[in-house]
Formats: sequence, C-alpha cells, structure tokens
Amino acid sequence: MRLKDKITLITGSGSGIGQSSALRFAGEGATVIVNDLDAAKGAETVEAIRAAGGKAVFLQADVTNPDSVQAMVREALAQFGRIDVLFNNAGISGVGAIHEVEPDAWDKVMSVNIRGVYLPCKYVLPSMMERRSGSIINMSSCIAEIGLARRASYSATKGAVLALTKSMQVDYAPYNIRVNALLPGTILTPFVEQYLRQSYDNPEEAYEGLKKRQLSGDLGRPEDVAQAALFLASDESKFMMGSPLYIDGGVVFG
Ligand code: NAD
Repeated sequence: MRLKDKITLITGSGSGIGQSSALRFAGEGATVIVNDLDAAKGAETVEAIRAAGGKAVFLQADVTNPDSVQAMVREALAQFGRIDVLFNNAGISGVGAIHEVEPDAWDKVMSVNIRGVYLPCKYVLPSMMERRSGSIINMSSCIAEIGLARRASYSATKGAVLALTKSMQVDYAPYNIRVNALLPGTILTPFVEQYLRQSYDNPEEAYEGLKKRQLSGDLGRPEDVAQAALFLASDESKFMMGSPLYIDGGVVFG
C-alpha cells in the first residue's frame, strides 16, 4: 500500500486523468477527496472507488471561485483533520492561435488552468505548513515545452503552471512540502476527444496524425498519468522537488 492512510484531494477527478488517479490512489490505501464542478461525474468516481473497496468522498467546488474552494478545504479538514496530498488536476482546453481567441475565452482558460491551481494551493497550504508535511502535484503539460499549432491560451497556462511549481517549491521547501509538476503528452480522455472534434474536420485523421508524433506510436491512457501521479504523491519521490515529470510517449522528440 503505497499511500496507506494518506488523505488526498484531487481536483477535477470526475473524469479522465483525475478519475483514473483517484481510483489508483484509493487502490493504494489513500482516502480520496474527489472534487469536481460536475456533481454527477464526481459521484461516479466515488461510486467506482467504493465499489472497489476504497475510501472516497465527493466535495463539489469550482476551483476558480475562492469561496467555493475555501468551503471545500474547510470541509475536508473538518472531516479528515489534514490533507497530505493535493493534486491540482482540473483543467480545460483552449483552441486557437492568438488572433482567433476572443478575450472571454482567453480569460476562461487562464482562470481554470492557473487560478484553479493557485486557489486550492492558497487554502490548503496553511494546514500543510503547520504540519510541516505535504506533497502538491500541479498539472502542467508537455505543451509547456513544445510548440503546438493553435493552442495559444492553453500552452500559456501550462507554461505558467510549470513556472509556478518551481517558485512554490522554493517557498515551501522549508516546510517540508514538495511541489512537482506532471507534463503529460496527448492522453486519450474526453478532453482530447472534444479537442479533436472542435478543431478538425476529420477527427479520425487528426487522431492518426497525433499518433505519428509519438515515439511510442500511440497516445497515452489516463492510467499512464495516474501511475506517475501516484509516484509523486508517495514518499517514493521524496528527493523530487520542483521537478517536471514527463509522461508523453516521447512526443517532445517527435
Ligand atoms: P477531462 O475533461 O476528462 O477532466 C477534467 C475535469 O475537470 C472534468 O471532470 C471537469 O468537470 C473538471 N473541471 C473543469 N473545470 C473545473 C472547475 N472550474 N472546477 C472543478 N473542476 C473542474 O480532462 P483530462 O484530459 O483528464 O485533463 C485533466 C488535466 O490534465 C487538465 O488539467 C489538462 O489540461 C491536463 N492534461 C491533459 C492532457 C490530455 O491529453 N488529456 C495532456 C496534458 C495535460
């Protein structure tokens, strides 16, 4: 049991990578606080964890809203007394080159993908600092490091999350809190399926194109990222501080 008795909070864990990570963490003995904006999806994750014999609760919150995040953290601490692991996973896609992106769409991607990392950190950190213990995992993307067409807003947010992770690590190392980033490549989730549908006339052809960019020859699966998140959450990664961890099938070389 690699996360025995750990209390873990995963934002956006009603779907995709977050859901897969929630199942993986629970399977390794963690209690998982499942967060999502979408209550039905969050409930689905909790049900799946409980059906497999694991421990989970759902706390709905919008990661862009300070009152909502504060209420979630307060409730989590009231129920469990601490949060050992915070996985800032919630995120949305943004499609378009700069001249194509409307200001409101730009702000929305900034809000969910950056403010949505800042706020859970802001409200969880005081309790971690007090206990002098914690692991924070921030969801970046390999897009922070490679140029991809028509992903201006999204790539800006994921670069920001990587920079934020490094800065946070310096601030919180004195409190024995580790802060690391995940940089997945293209992972087959509802998020990517939607991106393909919205961006291409022929999504299947686009999917084949994405596969060709991978040294692995195929896209990743949510479980591939969940496995890496588990490593960062656990004490096995205790010497990793402010690190970017790539799970990308070699796309940065493609
Ligand atoms: P997904 O769409 O399957 O899941 C994202 C979840 O976040 C959804 O359940 C959604 O309801 C929730 N969410 C959205 N806005 C929210 C908000 N304001 N408050 C709370 N929850 C909210 O997506 P996914 O592919 O599993 O992506 C998860 C994370 O991984 C995202 O941050 C994404 O940018 C990142 N990522 C994904 C890929 C990929 O290829 N799928 C690659 C690199 C990084």
